Amino acid sequence: MDEVRTGPSCVEVRHALCRLAVGERLRARGREFARHVRGCDECDAFVDELALVRRWLDAHVAPRDLRVPPRELERRARLALAGELAARLARDLLAVSRGRDPRPPAERRRDVERLHLLRAEAWLRTASGCPTSTWLAARAVLAFGREERPGQALELAARLDPHGLDVGLAWLGQLVRVGCEREANRVAERLLADVHG
Ligand SMILES: [Zn+2]
Repeated sequence: MDEVRTGPSCVEVRHALCRLAVGERLRARGREFARHVRGCDECDAFVDELALVRRWLDAHVAPRDLRVPPRELERRARLALAGELAARLARDLLAVSRGRDPRPPAERRRDVERLHLLRAEAWLRTASGCPTSTWLAARAVLAFGREERPGQALELAARLDPHGLDVGLAWLGQLVRVGCEREANRVAERLLADVHG
């Protein structure tokens, strides 16, 4: 109980719990606050009250996602699917860049067609900063098995899946090897941001 008396006040702890509930991290003082809650019946009950708030909210207004218009939901689903397909195709290009066999041509072609059917090619080009020529080159390798230099295939992979760590690290290594320092720094910063984000 001494710790409770000499540590943070109840008000301070409850403010911290509210901040925690909205996603803030309590960092160094987290342990101190946690010890207080364990030793203080009132603050411990406050944690249960926070849970009641969620139940109250659910009972009064539907969660925000349910209010998203169907057309917007469809758009999001389409982009999520396109992102998955692009990530799969990026792994094929990564395999090509390393002299390994990618998935069989029929499977790659099917994924390229799916992207086309999802009308996602334009989105993909914009999202990845992938110029039309780059996308066409990627498609030629993936769908038609056109030969590509390993470095080129790796760049295409990194553009198709800019957040994939394995692809990103391979591409970073390639940039460092050929001395593209500025681009290497940019890629490294983005990967670090992804890891910490
Ligand atoms: Zn307290």
